Amino acid sequence: MNSIAQKFQEVFGHPPDISAAAPGRVNLIGEHIDYSEGFVLPFAIQDCTFVAISKNDSGTLKIASLQRESEILEIPLADISPSRSGDWEKYVLGVVWALGVTSGLEILIDGNVPLGAGLSSSAALEASVATALNSLFSLGHDLPTLARLCQRAENDYVGMPCGIMDQSVSLMANDGSALLLDCRDLSTTNISFDVASANLELLIIDTQAHHELVDGGYAQRRASCDSVVAKLGIISMRHLSSEQLNNNREKITETEYIRARHAVTEIQRVLDAVKALEANDFVHLGALINESHASLRDDYTVSCPELDCAVNASISSGALGARMVGGGFGGSAIALIKASEIEATKQAIEKAFSDSGFVKPRFFTSLPSQGARVL
Ligand code: ADP
Ligand code: MG
Repeated sequence: MNSIAQKFQEVFGHPPDISAAAPGRVNLIGEHIDYSEGFVLPFAIQDCTFVAISKNDSGTLKIASLQRESEILEIPLADISPSRSGDWEKYVLGVVWALGVTSGLEILIDGNVPLGAGLSSSAALEASVATALNSLFSLGHDLPTLARLCQRAENDYVGMPCGIMDQSVSLMANDGSALLLDCRDLSTTNISFDVASANLELLIIDTQAHHELVDGGYAQRRASCDSVVAKLGIISMRHLSSEQLNNNREKITETEYIRARHAVTEIQRVLDAVKALEANDFVHLGALINESHASLRDDYTVSCPELDCAVNASISSGALGARMVGGGFGGSAIALIKASEIEATKQAIEKAFSDSGFVKPRFFTSLPSQGARVL
């Protein structure tokens, strides 16, 4: 029996019918453009969320997470509705709801994706539950459909208007590769991402900062993009060129202009990053990562002092590139660093944080890993 199945047995007193795992993610480049039908280039990290599930005809859901101290939650199936208030269990209920499962269930969650660190523990949780339910009930959904159902759970049940990237990469990533994802049709291409062979490492820096703007700020950025799309009469930012944006500048507000400039330039940076990776040109990749951060900080204004501090300290220590990842206003940054300089860079970042009076950051590294799977 695998470890999550054993833990399920301890909690519920019998073995589960199925267990599954799904990873968190880091986005190499392509931030805040998944909801603009852009291209993104994330990879799955080694850390996963695990789920074990059994079905029954009790008419209730019993849910527990080993990351949450509380007792087992018991929710009548009839109470599953987006209007039901709740906490972390909404991510699980949202997936049950989006997949249309109407059976009683016992569900145990365990995982090691850090929560709320910008590494997408939310999508890992959704993708693990969706993978298990898809198999347990032989629903036959393909991976793009599962990704959209997980997104629906987070958008409509949890109430977070996230894009499609996190769920897609958690479900579709492959070992050793970053996933070039076309957010318009969810088609994917594996792009070999082997930093070790170039004597580099990708350092993940969790700033431990969580600013309150997170949800409202995210929704405002999306609203700006929607407004530009409506005013310029285009289908999405994906259909906008730099030239067209500049020629139509007077039709939109200054804020909308700089938000759109981020979207247009970031989509191009992703395509350029793919070419850089295919040519093993990590110097160019680093430059693109730096440009992405500048665009997120200055045009999209979703960075924060802790993220800028992590990025600046990394670059001062010789990183080829560094940028914030995820929604912003806190969470994590990444830095592409020579493997021999990783310890010195971590120390420089810690010192910069301490000099600024910030909470000590946490560091992670991860190889690009496999997406969700039934165990
Ligand atoms: P991120 O996705 O960057 O980690 P989010 O705020 O989007 O941050 O999602 C984090 C939330 O997801 C947690 O606060 C919790 O509600 C839920 N969550 C994720 N993983 C777990 C888990 N293993 N157990 C319980 N809740 C979890
Ligand atoms: Mg999340």
